[in-house]
Amino acid sequence: MFTSLAGKTVIVTGASKGIGRGIARRFGLAELNVLVVSRHINEAKKVADEIGRNASAFAADVSEADSCKAMADAALERYGGIDILCANAGIFPAAKLSTMTAADFDQVIGVNLKGTFLSVSAVLPAMKAKKKGRIVITSSITGPITGYPGWSHYGASKAGQLGFMRTAAVELAPFNITVNAVMPGNIFTEGLEGLGQDYLTSMAACIPMKRLGTVEDIANAALYFASEEAAYVTGQTIVVDGGQVLPESPAALEQMGD
Ligand code: NAP
Repeated sequence: MFTSLAGKTVIVTGASKGIGRGIARRFGLAELNVLVVSRHINEAKKVADEIGRNASAFAADVSEADSCKAMADAALERYGGIDILCANAGIFPAAKLSTMTAADFDQVIGVNLKGTFLSVSAVLPAMKAKKKGRIVITSSITGPITGYPGWSHYGASKAGQLGFMRTAAVELAPFNITVNAVMPGNIFTEGLEGLGQDYLTSMAACIPMKRLGTVEDIANAALYFASEEAAYVTGQTIVVDGGQVLPESPAALEQMGD
């Protein structure tokens, strides 16, 4: 039985949809105060309303420092502290190297990697003052482990998050602040749905568990990293992918089972 986190405060970025919404709802169920963050206040409000009285919405763009600071200030003002940050906001537009522009690259790095840095930086003063905190980053298998045509910038951003995490974990350990990352495989979200049915079907076919992941699969891993029981775990990753990265070849997938 895990220690209750009821009454603690979590900020979840990118929480109006997909994985972030799943994380926000899971933490809400565990009775934390949840600041639901995305760029669009009305979308964030819908999720806060789903969660209930212990949640509220805030509009912030994680690629902007002032916006991240305002987000942290809102959590402090509304709930009196920040115990957990789930740095989840991310984008995954596709562009092959033959057409990718510097602006495409900057945009993805700006939201996914710089946005992680800015979100973390914004909550640090509050966490350091309390000498306690949990930071959970949503990375990916794409980049740190696998590659997919069109996502070299995305893969760089997701691998970059892990590089950032390891040094941040060392720097923040004396403050009793842990920094860990969940690495999702293919999780059924609005964002993934936008890639089309062919993508979804072909992905499900090459996952040993033969299904895409759910947002709850990721939320449960995030909740573990945020738990009291994970107090001594920092700078670590957990792959949540239904075994997707495991098969050595297509034949390995065909021969599994009986
Ligand atoms: P999604 O369904 O497209 O949702 C993305 C969320 O991020 C939305 O709430 C969006 O809200 C918010 N967002 C986007 N840009 C933002 C910005 N600049 N500032 C603040 N919020 C922003 O995506 P998802 O599939 O849930 O992915 C969420 C995270 O999981 C990403 O970091 C992604 O890289 C990672 N991931 C996803 C998968 C997957 O299979 N789905 C796999 C591996 C990793 P607004 O538009 O309102 O701002």
